[in-house]
Amino acid sequence: MYVAVDDTDSMDNMCTTYIISEIMSRSKYDIIGNPELVRLNPNISYKTRGNGALNINLGKGQGKKNIIGKIDNKYIYSYEKLAEEPDENDLMDFIYGIVNDYYVKTDIKTNPGIVISKNRFNEDLYYRALEEDISIDFIENYLKDRAIYKKIKTGHGIIGSAASLAWNRRRVTYELLDYKYPHYGYINKNVKMEIAKIPEKYNTTFNNIDINNNYPAVFPKPKTPVIFGIRGTNDNDLINAYNEIKNNYNLNDERYVIYKTNQGTDDHIINDPEFLSDLSSYAITGVISSYPYTIQGGHHFINMEYKNVNLKLSAFEPTKEFRKIIDLLIPGDIVRAYGSYVYNTLKLEKLMVISVSKLFKKEAPICTVCHVKTKNKGNMDYRCPVCKIRYKNPNIYEVKRKIKPGYYEVPVIARRHLSMPVELSSYFGEFNDLYKWNSMYR
Ligand code: ATP
Repeated sequence: MYVAVDDTDSMDNMCTTYIISEIMSRSKYDIIGNPELVRLNPNISYKTRGNGALNINLGKGQGKKNIIGKIDNKYIYSYEKLAEEPDENDLMDFIYGIVNDYYVKTDIKTNPGIVISKNRFNEDLYYRALEEDISIDFIENYLKDRAIYKKIKTGHGIIGSAASLAWNRRRVTYELLDYKYPHYGYINKNVKMEIAKIPEKYNTTFNNIDINNNYPAVFPKPKTPVIFGIRGTNDNDLINAYNEIKNNYNLNDERYVIYKTNQGTDDHIINDPEFLSDLSSYAITGVISSYPYTIQGGHHFINMEYKNVNLKLSAFEPTKEFRKIIDLLIPGDIVRAYGSYVYNTLKLEKLMVISVSKLFKKEAPICTVCHVKTKNKGNMDYRCPVCKIRYKNPNIYEVKRKIKPGYYEVPVIARRHLSMPVELSSYFGEFNDLYKWNSMYR
């Protein structure tokens, strides 16, 4: 029986994933497969942080057993298959008790929702939840004959919960989350950087650290029960990286859990749509139609023409050195832009430069008699300062472009949970040739 939970936390308190770990810890049921952390529309305004919804499959298990976590020094196993479903109402009572113990009661924006279903839902709901703002009425209607659910306060969390059960798991990564409740004490930034270098040594992990920006990405910013999270495509490597951290640092943690996730999959990206709608995320190919420009706050923009629409591509201040890439583009360049769309602006997550146009500059010609540079008097009038001969045309020459075709992405510090890092592209069989170009550039 699938149990899904969402919207239990606030900005600096709790994390729905911890509630899942508590369900695992207290459960009299077996766990089937890994619990799932499913990221949904990154453009939804009421998300607390990363718009993640959670689910776990509980019942009587059978088949191969796998380690999926460790709680209070005891390994937690999951079964390969389900042998027997539990009673859904008993299960709801058990889950409700835990959610009720832990959800943040002091925040009006915390509105937990629990969904319990024997079956998973059609992927259409997953894609809608990645692309649109779904109403609670729609979800209640959707769940009517499919599942039982419980709303706490407005129960807005049933939207994310239901959508997490519609995840098609076509592209999958893992995250190992390490916990201490209510939260771990202070860890010095230098120590965090040293710790973040450990998972970075494993080539199946991603988004661990941003050396340029001195950012240990495995450590979340807010104070929640999560100490750190390691992301990767191989769950064994995550355990090995965790053990290496544990063996080298005197980490007083309480538990870890390995989730299956849609992080780093680009599942939110819609390719080449006919029309662009606010709140969706796209990959679109077009021609650069302006020179780059900057606004106060260090935000960089450039315009692009896509199917007769002139839109802005943005690289906001948090995207750091990626802004320099925007600054190197000129009209005529052909790019494929990836990002979320709102107010006629695509907030860039990645950029594939397909081709660069030629860049020409003009300068005052050299006097053929005196061999000195002429002076520009305006209106195509160049005069030799020595012999006063007049020249009508400037010298035109081609300037070498400072950007090559290839993939460019925002640094780890600015990466969205769902964005596929370029380094994962070969794993997922995406954009292989361009990845090669990008490696050439670097
Ligand atoms: P955390 O990642 O720490 O769990 P969060 O960023 O996921 O926090 P929540 O507190 O879970 O934020 O709030 C997200 C809310 O948005 C939930 O109520 C969820 O049901 C809802 N939601 C998610 N996707 C959509 C969508 N596409 N349309 C409407 N509501 C959505």
